[in-house]
Amino acid sequence: MHIGIIGTGIVGAATAGWLQRDGHSVTFFDPNEAGEACSFGNAGSLSPSAVLPVGMPGMWKKVPKWLLDPDGPLVIRAHYLPTVLPWLMQFLRHSNEREVTRIATALRGLLSPVFDSYMPLLQRAGASDLVRRDGCLYVYSSRESADRWSWGANLRRSLGVEMQELEAEALFDLEPDLRGSFGFGQFAPENGATPDPSALVKAIYGQAIADGAGHIRARVTGFDRKADRIAALTLDDGSRHEVDGVVIAAGAWSGQLTRMLGTRVPLESQRGYHVTIQDPGIDLKRNVMAVEQNIMVNPMQMGLRLAGTVEFAGLKAAPDFRRAEALLSRGTEIFPGLRPDKHTKWMGHRPCLPDSMPVIGRVPRTQNAWMGFGHGHVGMCGGATTGRELANLVSGRAPEIDLEPFRVERFSRPGAA
Ligand SMILES: Cc1cc2nc3c(=O)[nH]c(=O)nc-3n(C[C@H](O)[C@H](O)[C@H](O)COP(=O)(O)OP(=O)(O)OC[C@H]3O[C@@H](n4cnc5c(N)ncnc54)[C@H](O)[C@@H]3O)c2cc1C
Repeated sequence: MHIGIIGTGIVGAATAGWLQRDGHSVTFFDPNEAGEACSFGNAGSLSPSAVLPVGMPGMWKKVPKWLLDPDGPLVIRAHYLPTVLPWLMQFLRHSNEREVTRIATALRGLLSPVFDSYMPLLQRAGASDLVRRDGCLYVYSSRESADRWSWGANLRRSLGVEMQELEAEALFDLEPDLRGSFGFGQFAPENGATPDPSALVKAIYGQAIADGAGHIRARVTGFDRKADRIAALTLDDGSRHEVDGVVIAAGAWSGQLTRMLGTRVPLESQRGYHVTIQDPGIDLKRNVMAVEQNIMVNPMQMGLRLAGTVEFAGLKAAPDFRRAEALLSRGTEIFPGLRPDKHTKWMGHRPCLPDSMPVIGRVPRTQNAWMGFGHGHVGMCGGATTGRELANLVSGRAPEIDLEPFRVERFSRPGAA
Protein backbone atom coordinates (compact mmCIF):
# COMPACT_ATOMS: atom_id res chain seq x y z
CA MET A 1 0.00 0.00 0.00
CA HIS A 2 0.97 3.62 -0.35
CA ILE A 3 0.74 5.16 3.13
CA GLY A 4 0.79 8.89 3.79
CA ILE A 5 2.48 9.71 7.08
CA ILE A 6 1.56 13.06 8.59
CA GLY A 7 4.53 14.24 10.65
CA THR A 8 8.28 13.70 10.56
CA GLY A 9 8.95 13.54 14.29
CA ILE A 10 10.17 10.36 15.94
CA VAL A 11 6.79 8.68 15.61
CA GLY A 12 6.36 9.46 11.91
CA ALA A 13 9.96 8.55 11.03
CA ALA A 14 9.91 5.25 12.93
CA THR A 15 6.51 4.33 11.50
CA ALA A 16 7.88 4.86 7.99
CA GLY A 17 10.85 2.60 8.70
CA TRP A 18 8.66 -0.19 10.03
CA LEU A 19 6.11 0.14 7.20
CA GLN A 20 8.85 -0.08 4.58
CA ARG A 21 10.11 -3.29 6.15
CA ASP A 22 6.68 -4.71 5.28
CA GLY A 23 7.05 -3.59 1.67
CA HIS A 24 4.71 -0.60 1.85
CA SER A 25 5.66 2.63 0.12
CA VAL A 26 5.40 5.81 2.19
CA THR A 27 5.19 9.54 1.66
CA PHE A 28 5.79 11.98 4.49
CA PHE A 29 3.65 15.11 4.69
CA ASP A 30 5.20 17.83 6.83
CA PRO A 31 6.06 21.48 6.09
CA ASN A 32 9.11 21.13 8.34
CA GLU A 33 12.33 19.16 8.20
CA ALA A 34 12.41 15.86 10.08
CA GLY A 35 13.20 15.92 13.78
CA GLU A 36 12.82 19.66 14.18
CA ALA A 37 9.67 19.89 16.34
CA CYS A 38 9.32 18.30 19.78
CA SER A 39 11.66 15.49 18.77
CA PHE A 40 14.45 18.04 18.32
CA GLY A 41 15.34 19.23 21.79
CA ASN A 42 14.12 16.65 24.27
CA ALA A 43 16.29 15.11 26.98
CA GLY A 44 16.98 12.03 24.89
CA SER A 45 16.22 9.51 27.57
CA LEU A 46 15.36 6.04 26.23
CA SER A 47 14.01 4.50 29.39
CA PRO A 48 12.00 1.33 29.77
CA SER A 49 11.64 2.50 33.38
CA ALA A 50 9.82 5.76 32.51
CA VAL A 51 6.46 4.19 33.24
CA LEU A 52 5.09 6.59 35.84
CA PRO A 53 2.51 9.05 34.54
CA VAL A 54 2.94 12.77 35.10
CA GLY A 55 0.00 12.90 37.50
CA MET A 56 1.02 10.99 40.64
CA PRO A 57 -0.99 10.37 43.82
CA GLY A 58 -0.94 13.39 46.13
CA MET A 59 0.56 15.64 43.48
CA TRP A 60 -2.40 18.04 43.61
CA LYS A 61 -1.24 19.11 47.09
CA LYS A 62 2.00 20.46 45.62
CA VAL A 63 0.39 22.29 42.71
CA PRO A 64 -0.50 25.56 44.53
CA LYS A 65 3.11 25.93 45.76
CA TRP A 66 4.47 25.26 42.27
CA LEU A 67 2.11 27.78 40.71
CA LEU A 68 3.24 30.48 43.13
CA ASP A 69 6.88 29.93 42.15
CA PRO A 70 7.62 31.51 38.75
CA ASP A 71 10.76 29.34 38.52
CA GLY A 72 8.97 26.18 39.66
CA PRO A 73 8.38 23.04 37.59
CA LEU A 74 4.81 24.03 36.56
CA VAL A 75 3.49 27.24 35.03
CA ILE A 76 0.01 27.99 33.69
CA ARG A 77 -0.11 31.25 31.77
CA ALA A 78 -3.08 33.28 33.02
CA HIS A 79 -4.70 33.74 29.60
CA TYR A 80 -4.68 29.98 29.07
CA LEU A 81 -6.15 28.87 32.41
CA PRO A 82 -9.83 28.79 31.30
CA THR A 83 -8.87 26.76 28.22
CA VAL A 84 -6.79 24.20 30.06
CA LEU A 85 -8.91 23.84 33.20
CA PRO A 86 -11.18 21.00 31.91
CA TRP A 87 -8.07 19.12 30.75
CA LEU A 88 -6.47 19.56 34.18
CA MET A 89 -9.58 18.19 35.86
CA GLN A 90 -9.37 15.07 33.67
CA PHE A 91 -5.66 14.85 34.41
CA LEU A 92 -6.29 14.87 38.18
CA ARG A 93 -8.86 12.08 37.82
CA HIS A 94 -6.06 9.82 36.58
CA SER A 95 -3.65 10.55 39.41
CA ASN A 96 -4.98 8.16 42.06
CA GLU A 97 -3.12 4.98 43.00
CA ARG A 98 -5.40 2.64 41.05
CA GLU A 99 -5.18 4.68 37.86
CA VAL A 100 -1.44 5.24 38.16
CA THR A 101 -0.87 1.49 38.59
CA ARG A 102 -3.01 0.77 35.51
CA ILE A 103 -1.22 3.41 33.43
CA ALA A 104 2.26 2.33 34.55
CA THR A 105 1.44 -1.28 33.64
CA ALA A 106 0.34 -0.23 30.15
CA LEU A 107 3.37 2.01 29.65
CA ARG A 108 5.72 -0.74 30.76
CA GLY A 109 4.39 -2.81 27.85
CA LEU A 110 5.03 0.04 25.41
CA LEU A 111 8.43 1.10 26.73
CA SER A 112 10.10 -2.25 27.49
CA PRO A 113 10.88 -3.06 23.84
CA VAL A 114 12.48 0.37 23.23
CA PHE A 115 15.84 -0.98 22.05
CA ASP A 116 14.38 -3.92 20.12
CA SER A 117 12.23 -1.44 18.20
CA TYR A 118 14.99 1.07 17.49
CA MET A 119 17.88 -1.18 16.63
CA PRO A 120 16.65 -2.68 13.34
CA LEU A 121 15.96 0.84 12.05
CA LEU A 122 19.24 2.30 13.30
CA GLN A 123 21.35 -0.62 12.12
CA ARG A 124 19.92 -0.24 8.63
CA ALA A 125 20.67 3.48 8.79
CA GLY A 126 24.23 2.82 10.02
CA ALA A 127 23.45 4.93 13.07
CA SER A 128 23.52 2.50 16.00
CA ASP A 129 25.93 4.87 17.75
CA LEU A 130 22.98 7.22 18.31
CA VAL A 131 21.83 4.98 21.14
CA ARG A 132 23.73 4.52 24.40
CA ARG A 133 22.80 1.66 26.70
CA ASP A 134 24.57 2.73 29.86
CA GLY A 135 21.73 3.02 32.38
CA CYS A 136 20.24 6.04 34.05
CA LEU A 137 20.58 7.49 37.55
CA TYR A 138 17.73 8.88 39.60
CA VAL A 139 19.43 11.09 42.19
CA TYR A 140 18.26 12.67 45.45
CA SER A 141 19.80 14.80 48.19
CA SER A 142 19.49 11.90 50.65
CA ARG A 143 17.92 8.51 51.19
CA GLU A 144 15.29 10.14 53.43
CA SER A 145 14.34 12.40 50.56
CA ALA A 146 14.16 9.46 48.14
CA ASP A 147 11.73 7.81 50.57
CA ARG A 148 9.17 10.48 49.59
CA TRP A 149 9.13 8.95 46.10
CA SER A 150 9.20 5.33 47.31
CA TRP A 151 5.64 4.53 46.23
CA GLY A 152 6.55 5.25 42.60
CA ALA A 153 9.90 3.45 42.85
CA ASN A 154 8.18 0.38 44.31
CA LEU A 155 5.59 0.45 41.54
CA ARG A 156 8.39 0.53 38.99
CA ARG A 157 10.02 -2.45 40.71
CA SER A 158 6.76 -4.37 40.82
CA LEU A 159 6.63 -4.04 37.03
CA GLY A 160 10.09 -5.53 36.65
CA VAL A 161 12.21 -2.39 36.53
CA GLU A 162 15.59 -2.97 38.14
CA MET A 163 16.53 -0.08 40.44
CA GLN A 164 19.82 -0.54 42.32
CA GLU A 165 20.22 1.63 45.41
CA LEU A 166 23.48 3.57 45.67
CA GLU A 167 24.70 5.28 48.83
CA ALA A 168 26.74 8.44 48.36
CA GLU A 169 30.20 6.96 47.76
CA ALA A 170 28.92 4.33 45.31
CA LEU A 171 27.05 7.10 43.50
CA PHE A 172 30.20 9.24 43.23
CA ASP A 173 32.19 6.23 41.99
CA LEU A 174 29.81 6.13 39.02
CA GLU A 175 29.52 9.91 38.55
CA PRO A 176 32.12 11.93 40.49
CA ASP A 177 30.58 15.26 39.48
CA LEU A 178 27.41 14.49 41.42
CA ARG A 179 29.31 15.41 44.59
CA GLY A 180 27.83 18.46 46.27
CA SER A 181 24.05 18.27 46.17
CA PHE A 182 23.34 14.58 45.95
CA GLY A 183 23.72 11.84 48.52
CA PHE A 184 21.65 8.92 47.26
CA GLY A 185 20.85 7.37 43.90
CA GLN A 186 18.94 4.64 42.15
CA PHE A 187 20.61 3.11 39.13
CA ALA A 188 18.34 1.72 36.40
CA PRO A 189 20.73 -0.39 34.32
CA GLU A 190 18.29 -1.31 31.53
CA ASN A 191 17.86 2.36 30.52
CA GLY A 192 19.71 4.25 27.84
CA ALA A 193 19.75 7.53 25.99
CA THR A 194 20.53 9.13 22.71
CA PRO A 195 23.33 11.68 22.44
CA ASP A 196 21.32 13.61 19.82
CA PRO A 197 17.54 13.08 19.51
CA SER A 198 17.22 15.16 16.35
CA ALA A 199 20.05 13.24 14.66
CA LEU A 200 18.37 9.99 15.68
CA VAL A 201 15.12 11.03 13.95
CA LYS A 202 16.99 12.35 10.92
CA ALA A 203 18.92 9.08 10.58
CA ILE A 204 15.74 6.98 10.55
CA TYR A 205 13.97 9.48 8.27
CA GLY A 206 17.02 9.71 5.95
CA GLN A 207 17.09 5.93 5.59
CA ALA A 208 13.36 5.93 4.79
CA ILE A 209 14.01 8.48 2.04
CA ALA A 210 16.96 6.42 0.75
CA ASP A 211 14.60 3.43 0.68
CA GLY A 212 12.18 5.29 -1.55
CA ALA A 213 9.97 7.44 0.70
CA GLY A 214 8.79 10.80 -0.57
CA HIS A 215 8.38 13.99 1.45
CA ILE A 216 5.81 16.60 0.47
CA ARG A 217 6.70 19.78 2.33
CA ALA A 218 3.26 21.15 3.10
CA ARG A 219 0.71 21.03 5.91
CA VAL A 220 -2.19 18.59 5.71
CA THR A 221 -5.41 20.60 5.97
CA GLY A 222 -8.06 18.06 5.04
CA PHE A 223 -9.05 14.53 4.07
CA ASP A 224 -11.07 13.42 1.05
CA ARG A 225 -13.27 10.57 2.23
CA LYS A 226 -14.98 7.92 0.13
CA ALA A 227 -17.46 6.12 2.41
CA ASP A 228 -15.40 4.76 5.33
CA ARG A 229 -12.01 5.27 3.69
CA ILE A 230 -9.59 8.16 3.14
CA ALA A 231 -9.00 8.57 -0.58
CA ALA A 232 -6.66 11.58 -0.53
CA LEU A 233 -5.02 14.25 1.62
CA THR A 234 -5.42 17.94 0.85
CA LEU A 235 -2.63 20.35 1.68
CA ASP A 236 -2.25 24.04 2.43
CA ASP A 237 -0.48 24.56 -0.91
CA GLY A 238 -3.75 23.58 -2.63
CA SER A 239 -2.50 20.19 -3.80
CA ARG A 240 -4.27 16.86 -3.35
CA HIS A 241 -2.50 13.51 -2.90
CA GLU A 242 -4.11 10.12 -3.25
CA VAL A 243 -3.19 7.51 -0.64
CA ASP A 244 -4.17 3.94 0.22
CA GLY A 245 -3.91 4.73 3.91
CA VAL A 246 -2.78 7.42 6.33
CA VAL A 247 -0.99 7.57 9.68
CA ILE A 248 -1.52 10.65 11.83
CA ALA A 249 1.74 11.24 13.71
CA ALA A 250 1.64 15.00 13.99
CA GLY A 251 2.57 15.25 17.67
CA ALA A 252 0.81 18.03 19.58
CA TRP A 253 -0.99 19.12 16.40
CA SER A 254 -2.68 15.75 15.82
CA GLY A 255 -5.96 16.69 17.51
CA GLN A 256 -6.76 19.19 14.77
CA LEU A 257 -6.44 16.38 12.22
CA THR A 258 -8.46 13.72 14.05
CA ARG A 259 -11.26 16.27 14.60
CA MET A 260 -11.61 16.50 10.81
CA LEU A 261 -12.27 12.75 10.90
CA GLY A 262 -14.89 13.08 13.62
CA THR A 263 -12.69 11.96 16.53
CA ARG A 264 -12.07 14.38 19.38
CA VAL A 265 -9.09 13.80 21.64
CA PRO A 266 -8.19 15.88 24.69
CA LEU A 267 -4.69 16.61 23.41
CA GLU A 268 -2.81 19.42 25.14
CA SER A 269 0.68 20.79 24.80
CA GLN A 270 2.85 20.56 27.89
CA ARG A 271 5.50 22.97 26.76
CA GLY A 272 8.97 22.01 27.96
CA TYR A 273 12.32 23.77 27.78
CA HIS A 274 15.98 22.92 27.59
CA VAL A 275 19.34 24.58 27.93
CA THR A 276 22.30 22.89 26.26
CA ILE A 277 25.62 23.99 27.68
CA GLN A 278 28.81 23.84 25.65
CA ASP A 279 32.01 23.42 27.71
CA PRO A 280 29.97 22.76 30.88
CA GLY A 281 33.04 22.17 33.05
CA ILE A 282 31.53 19.01 34.53
CA ASP A 283 31.60 15.52 33.16
CA LEU A 284 28.58 13.26 33.41
CA LYS A 285 28.74 9.91 31.64
CA ARG A 286 25.07 9.03 31.50
CA ASN A 287 21.52 10.36 31.88
CA VAL A 288 20.78 11.70 35.34
CA MET A 289 17.31 12.55 36.64
CA ALA A 290 17.49 15.05 39.51
CA VAL A 291 14.18 14.02 41.02
CA GLU A 292 13.68 16.78 43.59
CA GLN A 293 14.45 19.47 41.02
CA ASN A 294 12.51 17.71 38.25
CA ILE A 295 15.37 18.16 35.80
CA MET A 296 16.72 15.58 33.37
CA VAL A 297 20.43 15.98 32.60
CA ASN A 298 21.96 14.27 29.58
CA PRO A 299 25.53 14.54 28.29
CA MET A 300 24.96 15.00 24.55
CA GLN A 301 27.17 15.36 21.51
CA MET A 302 26.54 19.11 21.41
CA GLY A 303 26.88 19.75 25.16
CA LEU A 304 25.28 19.04 28.50
CA ARG A 305 21.51 19.28 28.18
CA LEU A 306 19.26 20.19 31.12
CA ALA A 307 15.60 19.70 30.27
CA GLY A 308 12.28 19.82 32.02
CA THR A 309 9.47 22.03 33.29
CA VAL A 310 5.86 22.05 32.21
CA GLU A 311 4.16 25.17 30.91
CA PHE A 312 0.53 25.39 29.78
CA ALA A 313 0.10 28.17 27.25
CA GLY A 314 -1.18 26.42 24.12
CA LEU A 315 0.37 25.89 20.72
CA LYS A 316 0.53 29.52 19.65
CA ALA A 317 2.05 31.58 22.50
CA ALA A 318 5.71 32.56 22.11
CA PRO A 319 8.25 30.72 24.28
CA ASP A 320 9.02 32.28 27.66
CA PHE A 321 12.73 31.65 27.93
CA ARG A 322 12.73 32.63 31.59
CA ARG A 323 11.71 28.98 32.03
CA ALA A 324 14.98 27.91 30.40
CA GLU A 325 16.91 30.43 32.52
CA ALA A 326 15.32 28.86 35.59
CA LEU A 327 16.63 25.46 34.48
CA LEU A 328 20.06 27.00 34.13
CA SER A 329 20.08 28.56 37.58
CA ARG A 330 18.82 25.31 39.14
CA GLY A 331 21.63 23.56 37.26
CA THR A 332 24.28 25.84 38.74
CA GLU A 333 22.80 25.26 42.20
CA ILE A 334 22.98 21.47 41.97
CA PHE A 335 26.29 21.24 40.07
CA PRO A 336 28.74 23.57 41.80
CA GLY A 337 31.32 23.12 39.00
CA LEU A 338 28.94 23.94 36.15
CA ARG A 339 30.12 26.67 33.74
CA PRO A 340 26.88 27.87 32.15
CA ASP A 341 28.21 30.75 29.98
CA LYS A 342 27.89 29.17 26.53
CA HIS A 343 24.45 27.72 26.06
CA THR A 344 21.47 27.49 23.73
CA LYS A 345 17.80 27.51 24.75
CA TRP A 346 14.79 25.76 23.26
CA MET A 347 11.08 25.13 23.80
CA GLY A 348 9.03 22.21 22.48
CA HIS A 349 5.41 21.05 22.59
CA ARG A 350 4.98 17.71 24.34
CA PRO A 351 1.81 16.11 22.96
CA CYS A 352 -0.08 15.16 26.12
CA LEU A 353 -3.28 13.33 26.93
CA PRO A 354 -4.73 13.55 30.44
CA ASP A 355 -3.85 9.94 31.32
CA SER A 356 -0.20 10.34 30.18
CA MET A 357 -0.65 7.59 27.59
CA PRO A 358 -0.52 7.93 23.81
CA VAL A 359 -3.19 7.03 21.31
CA ILE A 360 -2.13 4.09 19.13
CA GLY A 361 -4.70 2.52 16.87
CA ARG A 362 -7.17 2.97 14.06
CA VAL A 363 -9.35 6.04 13.62
CA PRO A 364 -12.95 5.06 14.47
CA ARG A 365 -15.27 4.55 11.49
CA THR A 366 -12.34 4.82 9.08
CA GLN A 367 -10.86 1.66 7.61
CA ASN A 368 -7.51 3.03 6.43
CA ALA A 369 -6.43 5.73 8.92
CA TRP A 370 -4.31 5.09 12.00
CA MET A 371 -3.04 7.29 14.83
CA GLY A 372 0.21 7.43 16.78
CA PHE A 373 0.49 10.52 18.94
CA GLY A 374 0.18 11.86 22.48
CA HIS A 375 3.38 10.35 23.87
CA GLY A 376 3.87 13.27 26.25
CA HIS A 377 7.12 12.97 28.16
CA VAL A 378 8.07 9.57 26.69
CA GLY A 379 7.87 9.98 22.91
CA MET A 380 11.50 9.10 22.33
CA CYS A 381 11.15 6.04 24.59
CA GLY A 382 7.92 4.92 22.92
CA GLY A 383 8.23 6.25 19.37
CA ALA A 384 9.90 3.28 17.70
CA THR A 385 7.63 0.71 19.33
CA THR A 386 4.63 2.80 18.28
CA GLY A 387 5.94 2.69 14.70
CA ARG A 388 6.38 -1.08 14.89
CA GLU A 389 2.87 -1.56 16.25
CA LEU A 390 1.30 0.76 13.67
CA ALA A 391 3.00 -1.27 10.95
CA ASN A 392 1.51 -4.41 12.51
CA LEU A 393 -1.96 -2.83 12.42
CA VAL A 394 -1.59 -1.53 8.85
CA SER A 395 -0.47 -4.99 7.70
CA GLY A 396 -3.30 -6.70 9.57
CA ARG A 397 -0.98 -8.56 11.96
CA ALA A 398 -1.63 -9.06 15.65
CA PRO A 399 0.06 -6.43 17.82
CA GLU A 400 3.14 -7.50 19.76
CA ILE A 401 2.12 -5.54 22.86
CA ASP A 402 -1.26 -4.94 24.48
CA LEU A 403 -2.65 -1.95 22.60
CA GLU A 404 -6.03 -1.96 24.34
CA PRO A 405 -5.07 0.79 26.88
CA PHE A 406 -3.98 3.06 24.01
CA ARG A 407 -7.23 2.96 22.03
CA VAL A 408 -8.75 6.36 21.34
CA GLU A 409 -12.17 5.03 22.33
CA ARG A 410 -11.12 5.43 25.96
CA PHE A 411 -12.02 9.11 25.59
CA SER A 412 -15.49 8.49 24.24
CA ARG A 413 -16.81 5.74 26.51
CA PRO A 414 -19.46 6.84 29.06
CA GLY A 415 -17.68 8.33 32.07
CA ALA A 416 -14.39 8.25 30.21
CA ALA A 417 -11.51 10.63 30.68
C1 LIG B 1 11.86 19.44 27.38
C2 LIG B 1 11.45 18.08 26.86
C3 LIG B 1 12.15 16.95 27.26
C4 LIG B 1 11.76 15.70 26.81
N1 LIG B 1 12.51 14.62 27.15
C5 LIG B 1 12.17 13.40 26.69
C6 LIG B 1 12.99 12.27 26.99
O1 LIG B 1 14.02 12.39 27.62
N2 LIG B 1 12.58 11.05 26.53
C7 LIG B 1 11.42 10.90 25.82
O2 LIG B 1 11.09 9.78 25.49
N3 LIG B 1 10.66 11.95 25.50
C8 LIG B 1 11.01 13.20 25.90
N4 LIG B 1 10.25 14.27 25.58
C9 LIG B 1 9.02 14.05 24.80
C10 LIG B 1 9.31 13.81 23.32
O3 LIG B 1 10.19 14.80 22.83
C11 LIG B 1 8.00 13.84 22.53
O4 LIG B 1 7.06 12.97 23.11
C12 LIG B 1 8.23 13.40 21.09
O5 LIG B 1 9.27 14.12 20.51
C13 LIG B 1 6.96 13.58 20.26
O6 LIG B 1 7.25 13.13 18.94
P1 LIG B 1 6.19 13.21 17.78
O7 LIG B 1 6.77 12.55 16.60
O8 LIG B 1 4.87 12.74 18.29
O9 LIG B 1 5.98 14.81 17.52
P2 LIG B 1 6.94 15.93 16.92
O10 LIG B 1 8.36 15.59 17.07
O11 LIG B 1 6.47 17.21 17.53
O12 LIG B 1 6.61 15.92 15.37
C14 LIG B 1 5.34 16.29 14.89
C15 LIG B 1 5.51 16.72 13.44
O13 LIG B 1 4.20 16.86 12.87
C16 LIG B 1 4.24 17.96 11.96
N5 LIG B 1 2.88 18.44 11.76
C17 LIG B 1 2.04 19.00 12.65
N6 LIG B 1 0.84 19.29 12.05
C18 LIG B 1 0.94 18.90 10.77
C19 LIG B 1 0.05 18.94 9.64
N7 LIG B 1 -1.20 19.42 9.75
N8 LIG B 1 0.50 18.47 8.44
C20 LIG B 1 1.76 17.98 8.32
N9 LIG B 1 2.63 17.91 9.36
C21 LIG B 1 2.23 18.36 10.56
C22 LIG B 1 5.15 18.97 12.67
O14 LIG B 1 5.69 19.91 11.73
C23 LIG B 1 6.22 18.05 13.27
O15 LIG B 1 7.33 17.91 12.43
C24 LIG B 1 10.62 15.56 25.97
C25 LIG B 1 9.94 16.69 25.55
C26 LIG B 1 10.35 17.95 25.97
C27 LIG B 1 9.63 19.16 25.50
